[in-house]
Amino acid sequence: MLRRALLAASASERVRRIVTTVPLTRDVVARFVAGDTADDALAVTRRLLDDGLLVSLDYLGEDTADPEQAAAVADEYIRLLGRLDAAGMSGSGRAEVSVKPTAVGLDLAEHGEKTARENIARICAAARAAGTTVTLDMEEHTRVEPTLRLAGQLRADFPDLGCVIQSYLRRSPEDSRALAVTGSRVRLCKGAYNAAAGVAFPARAEVDRCYARCLRVLLDGPGYPMIATHDPRLISIAGVRARAARRPADSFEYQMLYGIRPAEQLRLAAGGSRVRVYVPYGSDWYGYLVRRLAERPANLAFFLRSLASRG
Ligand SMILES: Cc1cc2nc3c(=O)[nH]c(=O)nc-3n(C[C@H](O)[C@H](O)[C@H](O)COP(=O)(O)OP(=O)(O)OC[C@H]3O[C@@H](n4cnc5c(N)ncnc54)[C@H](O)[C@@H]3O)c2cc1C
Repeated sequence: MLRRALLAASASERVRRIVTTVPLTRDVVARFVAGDTADDALAVTRRLLDDGLLVSLDYLGEDTADPEQAAAVADEYIRLLGRLDAAGMSGSGRAEVSVKPTAVGLDLAEHGEKTARENIARICAAARAAGTTVTLDMEEHTRVEPTLRLAGQLRADFPDLGCVIQSYLRRSPEDSRALAVTGSRVRLCKGAYNAAAGVAFPARAEVDRCYARCLRVLLDGPGYPMIATHDPRLISIAGVRARAARRPADSFEYQMLYGIRPAEQLRLAAGGSRVRVYVPYGSDWYGYLVRRLAERPANLAFFLRSLASRG
């Protein structure tokens, strides 16, 4: 019911106009999105790096419908990487980029996978020149197979290309085992999308249990796990497991979203952990926020909690 209402709101031009012009909304957006432009993204990146945090930048937008737009998104990332490099912010992977395969062409009616592969390869080459990395975001469950295929193919040339496992999917422990190999950068998150019970766990407790299972596989393996969650219990389990696996602090990282639990980000970094903040920017923020709420009703509570607390 709630989900339907939110999706209807997201599709309404009138609601979009109201939401994007109300000053309070702009304030709320500013807490979660760096701003409309690359200048805004660079300013936020500088501030976070100065605080001892790492950054992954996401140029907002997805479900690109034509090849020119897909190429333009890749061009934006390439320009951004050039500017990060020029400003001395990308070396040693301090600021990297996150890319949605559908933003660079995966869903195109013709040659979608090929177009996405070519665009991601261009972004990876620019990232390498800037001394940093790329992570492929994971979208709806129907995109998991093609996204993992893209990552597998591109890793032949760009072994540090990261990918994402979502613990709400039943397949994820198996994917974790396949991806827990030397040099493999894997972000583990719960998943921000909805899927049928056949492929996904319906209960939050099961999603959390699966997260802990995947976490153990990744931390016990030889890869580079990126632990993306704000969940205090899972963060604490990760710390215990990393110590049990005798992992040095620079062999894994925590990741959180910009604007969520900033004090916890700083606390972990002060304790010697690597902490990366995922920073979205761009004018297409409306869909990012509203779809996040609609895709998974639990995220509404997450969003409202975030407004109430900066803890
Ligand atoms: C860096 C990063 C990258 C991501 N990339 C992807 C991706 O590629 N694909 C994808 O599907 N999803 C992605 N996600 C989203 C993710 O899947 C979840 O939807 C989102 O992170 C919320 O899940 P959670 O693990 O934080 O746990 P939740 O179950 O939402 O929250 C768990 C607990 O965290 C605590 N908490 C959460 N927010 C706050 C707050 N503001 N203040 C205090 N406590 C709080 C509370 O104790 C809460 O009970 C990403 C998330 C992050 C952090």
